[in-house]
Formats: sequence, C-alpha cells, structure tokens
Amino acid sequence: PSSQNQQSGGKSQQQQQQQQQQQLLAKKRWIAQQRKSLPIASVERRIVDEVRKNDILIVVGETGSGKTTQLPQFLFNAGFCQNGKAIGVTQPRRVAAITVAKRVAEECNVELGQKVGYAIRFDDVTSSSTRIKYMTDGLLLREALLDPLLSRYGVIIVDEAHERTVHTDVLLGILKKVQKARSQSISKEPIKNANIDIDMLNEVNHQRLNTLLSPKACQNTKFLPLKLIIMSASLDAKGFSEYFGGAKAVYVQGRQYPVDILYTYQPEQDYLDATLITIFQIHLEEGPGDILAFLTGQEEIESIEKLIHGRLDKLPDDKRKVMTVPIYSSLPSEQQMNAFKPAPSGFRKVILATNIAETSVTIPGIRYVVDPGLVKARSYNPVTGMESLIIIPTSKAQAQQRSGRAGREGPGKCFRLYPESEFGMLSDSTIPEIKRCNLANVVLQLKALGIDDIIGFDFMEKPSRMTIVKSLEQLFLLGALTDDYKLSDPIGHQMARLPLDPIYSKALILANEFKCLEEMLIVVSMLSVESIFYFPREKMEEARAARKSFSSPDGDHVTLVNVYRASAECLDKSKMVTSKDKTIEKNLKKWCIENFINSRSLRHARDIHSQIQGHVQHMGLSVTSCGDDMLQFRRCLTAAFFLNAAMKQPDGTYRALASGQTVQIHPSSMLFRSKPECIVFNELVRTNHNYVRNLTRIDPLWLPELAPQYYASS
Ligand code: ADP
Ligand code: MG
Repeated sequence: PSSQNQQSGGKSQQQQQQQQQQQLLAKKRWIAQQRKSLPIASVERRIVDEVRKNDILIVVGETGSGKTTQLPQFLFNAGFCQNGKAIGVTQPRRVAAITVAKRVAEECNVELGQKVGYAIRFDDVTSSSTRIKYMTDGLLLREALLDPLLSRYGVIIVDEAHERTVHTDVLLGILKKVQKARSQSISKEPIKNANIDIDMLNEVNHQRLNTLLSPKACQNTKFLPLKLIIMSASLDAKGFSEYFGGAKAVYVQGRQYPVDILYTYQPEQDYLDATLITIFQIHLEEGPGDILAFLTGQEEIESIEKLIHGRLDKLPDDKRKVMTVPIYSSLPSEQQMNAFKPAPSGFRKVILATNIAETSVTIPGIRYVVDPGLVKARSYNPVTGMESLIIIPTSKAQAQQRSGRAGREGPGKCFRLYPESEFGMLSDSTIPEIKRCNLANVVLQLKALGIDDIIGFDFMEKPSRMTIVKSLEQLFLLGALTDDYKLSDPIGHQMARLPLDPIYSKALILANEFKCLEEMLIVVSMLSVESIFYFPREKMEEARAARKSFSSPDGDHVTLVNVYRASAECLDKSKMVTSKDKTIEKNLKKWCIENFINSRSLRHARDIHSQIQGHVQHMGLSVTSCGDDMLQFRRCLTAAFFLNAAMKQPDGTYRALASGQTVQIHPSSMLFRSKPECIVFNELVRTNHNYVRNLTRIDPLWLPELAPQYYASS
C-alpha cells in the first residue's frame, strides 16, 4: 500500500507541477498581452531607431503609456547591452525605482537583482549581471563620485524629468558633461580593447571630473558613447530640447478617457475631513472602481487610514468592503507593492498616496480621484538661509496630472476639494525645486566632482546667485570648504562621501571626536524618517503617557536615543528566547503598539542606522558611546547644529540666531513646556507659525566656545 500511496502521491505531484506550469504560462501570456496593449508598444521600432540615430532623445508620453517599464526593455532587446554595458533609469522617487524594477523583473520573468535590479540610498538590489538598473537620480549622482564617466552605462534614461527635482536638474548638467567627455575620448582613439575600460576607470577614480574631462586625460581610456534619453510626462519638451542643443523629441500618443471634474462650492476648512467625507460619498453613492486620494505625507495618510476604518466599522456589513492601501516614499518596500494588487472581489480599493501617484507610478483600476489640491514642498529663504517643508497648493499641471489618473481605463471622476475659481488662480506649472531649496548638498557634491565654479555651472535653470553663495558660506562654516572655497581635506571629502545632508554628515564626524558616535548615529537615523511617535486622535492621553517614559529633560534628541535603545532591548530580549525572525519581528511590533511608536518608521530608522554605521566604520570612525555623559552629547549637538540655535525671548517665543526669525517650539517637542533659555533644533515647520522641531537644550556659552567661526565676535 505504501508504494501505491507513493505512486498516487507522485501522480498528484506531477499534476501539481503541470498545473503550476500552466498557471505560469497563463501569467506570461497575460503579461505579454498587457505589454502589447500599452500605447508605447506600437512605436517600439521607431523609438529604437531614434535612439540609434540620436545620442540624446527626449521621449514625451502621458502617464501610463509605458515609458518607464517598456522603453528600457525595448533597448535591451535591441542589443544596447551587448557590449556588457547597462541601461540606467533614474527616478526622482524611491518607491518608483523599487516598484517599477519589481514589475519589470516580473515582466522579464527574472529574479529581481539579476538582469533587472534597483538601487536606492541604503538599499542596493543589483548584481554584476544587472543590465536594466532603476535607481534614484540622487544615487546616480553619488555613483558619479566614484565613476566620473559613468562607464558602466551605455544608456542613461532620466525619467520623470518634468518633476524637475533638484537632483534631476543637477544630473542633467553632469550627464551633459559626461556625454561630451565620452564622445571626445572616442574620437581621440578608436576602441581596440573594450575590456579594459573598467580597470582604467578604477585607476582614475580618485581624479576629479574636470581633469577627466580634458581631452588629454581621455586619450588613454576607451569608452563607448553614452546614449541619453530624457523622459517626461509633460507635453512641453521645448525646455529640455533647448537645453540639449535642439535635441529631438518623440511623442507617444496616450490613451485618455474623459474625466468629469467636480469642484466644491466653498473652500474647505479641514481638507482631511473633506477627503474622508468624499471617499465615503464615492464609496456609498458611485459605481464600482477604485479610489485614489492624494495626501501630503505619511502622517496624514496614516491618520486618514485609521479614520476610514473607524467609520467603516459603523456601516452595515455589505457596505464595509473597502481595502485601504497606503503608498508613500518611506513605506517599507515589501508593502509598496500592495498598492498594485487588485482588491478581493467585491471590495473597493482606496489608495492613499502622496504625489508619488501623480506620474511616478501608475496603479491600475482607478476610476475616482480625490484631490485636496495640496502638496508638501521644500521652500527656501536665501536671506535667512532656512529651508522648511510647507504644504502648498498644487500647480495647474499637477492638478491635471492627478485628474488624469481617473481616466486611464475608462471614463472617470475627479473630485477637487476646492472651488473652481481657485483652480484659475493656481500657477501653471511647478517651480523647479532647485529654485526653492537649500543647495548645500548639491554644492558639496559638485565640488566633490571637481566642479569648482558652481555659479558658472550649466544648470538648465540657474538657482539664484544668493542661494549659491549662502550654500557656499554654510559649507565653509561647517568646515567642508577651505578659505578659497575648495573641498577641505579630510572633512569636506568625508562629508561628501556620506549620503546625508551636510549638517548630519558633519554631526557624525564631530561625534567621532566627542566620543558619542553611537548616540549620534541613532539620532541621525531617527531624524531621517518621518514621525517616530504615533498619536492616534482617540488615544491622545495614553500616547502622551507612553512617550513620557522615554522623555529626557535634555530634549528630543536624547529622547530619540532612549526610544531606539528601548526598542533594541526588546529585540535582544526576544532574540534570547527565539531565533525565528518572524516572531522577533512580531514582538517588536507589539512593543511598538504598546508604546505608541510607529513601527514602520522605526524599522526604516533601523535599516538606515545599519547602513550609515557601515559607512562611518568604512571611513575609519569609531563608534563609541558617551555612556551617561549627556553633557558631552549635548555639546556635540551644539557643535554640529550651531547654525540652528535659538534664544528665548521675554514673551516665550524664540529668536533663531542665524536668521533673526521668530520661531516657536513645536507642541510635539519634549521642551514645549519647559522652554529652556537656549536650544539647537533640526527642523523648521511652517504652518500658521514658524515651529521648530527636534530640539536639545544647550548652554548659550557653548556657542562661542564650540562654534567660534560663527559666534566668536558676538
Ligand atoms: P509611464 O512610465 O509611461 O507612466 P509605466 O511604464 O509606469 O508608464 O506603466 C505602464 C503600465 O504598467 C501601466 O498600465 C501600469 O498600470 C502598469 N504597471 C506598472 N507598474 C506596475 C506594477 N507594479 N504592477 C502592475 N502593473 C504595473
Ligand atoms: Mg513613468
């Protein structure tokens, strides 16, 4: 009987295998069919021809036409990687790089990280066999530091160029130079041995781009020409074309069904509340179809998600079939793909997204768009030197992109949560980020690439001279630049190497001297994520009490250290009783819930922590702790964040010393009540007040002592 059992078992196994194969085949067919039906599929040949003919090509096409997922595959199939070079595709956003790479790996039926991969800051899923590499534009800029001619790429596609992020703009300038340098090197000497270029490059890695760009330096190196493709969802290609000397533009015809645009009669007082009401109105009164709501950040998304579920619980069973999925940049990557999964049958999917869903990722199935008309954006005041995140109205172009998301697969509806008269007052297009952010980071990177004349750099749109000068000054004060504005050695070079804001890089370098690098690593990681503490509206008091158990009278930085350490303790404890990752993870989650800590953010912070730790150890810094000596740690924070110091005024507000601005302590700060005489802070948030967040109390006398370059004379 046992052999019979085995036989029948074998049979069913065979059947199972067959079934699996059939499923796989069906999936392949389904994917092939989907790919074929995309608007870009009909112009594959033409695009490939144009890329062959032109070294620079601009590809314009509506969101969802297949640019990001298909074009790299077209080029791969047309043999653009036969020379062993890769196709690099840059995205302004991390989520897009990850989700698109996953999708394309699926379409190619390969494992992610092999032929198709992605790389973002703190997360590299590529290998030597990767030929289609999705990455953030910031990451490619970093690669240029190590490989100034970007020699591993045969094609670079700058995607979402219409977003005009500061990294995209800088990248365009760099790529222009790199392309020129590579074509010069070719005309100087024909390729004899294509294999040696990588080695040659490693040899010249430490040299600066400008030296490399001189024809003399290029003579010995053999490079293939670099093909450059600029992709944009905005129909206006003129700016890009002009910047690249009249480069050719190809238009991909989109497919768009009519979208009904509805406005409110009155301006909304509370746009979150209005969003919630509108979502339910659609759910209860409109036909089937998924809903996409645009919010400004993780915090808003999480609070709306909770509110939706709270309200659903009060509805009759048959009305409760709603599935919510968040999507925003700092969402852990395994959760990001959830947005693309269809809802279970009979359920309506409600996607809660930041403006990532505007053009960067296309989620199928959407019929309704809810658009409060707001976006979180960087804003910079070159007079005060202060950058802040503010919530501002979208541009007309953004509003149109958003409504377009409702009409991809059939007619749809877009609910704009503001009166029609307000639409007319929106600016036509978004101001490029380079005109509204602090450029210290950009300037540092350009300097590290050997580009010394920042004001003369060929930007597509020049940032104001004042902003550049202010950034140079800031870098000088941080010790990254010498008196004559050259990158300082070693501090400037070290700072450029760390993938962080210059001020945080400096904090880590200083912490090495102050022997509190362990604490500073935690602070920098925790500050790199949004909202560690979680404050549900309905449990405010409990949340406050929980937070109190971590709080330090010294302020928020020490408090963050306490949270991190407590979570590490919880991890250690569960590791002692089990080795199952899943259980450990579950225990940590439970701990987070009990302590009102945002587990997603904490996990992200832990990831960042281990990555930065790797970087600083590689740089030869030693990760030591100051133990209980918080004085030492606070002095270090002062030495690092002296540009953000503020003194209390008689009326209880503060005066930021560098800018002279009046600021207030954010209610979420540990120091909100105690209001110490002098503080350093990390962040300025502008709502109806100028709020500062993430503070530590300091002794004002430390400022002239620890930052004499700035405070000595006063
Ligand atoms: P574009 O870059 O022109 O905006 P994409 O190449 O991003 O267009 O998208 C093409 C198609 O692929 C869209 O129909 C989109 O719905 C689909 N798609 C993209 N990513 C995914 C994914 N992760 N899962 C399922 N479908 C996806
Ligand atoms: Mg795209």
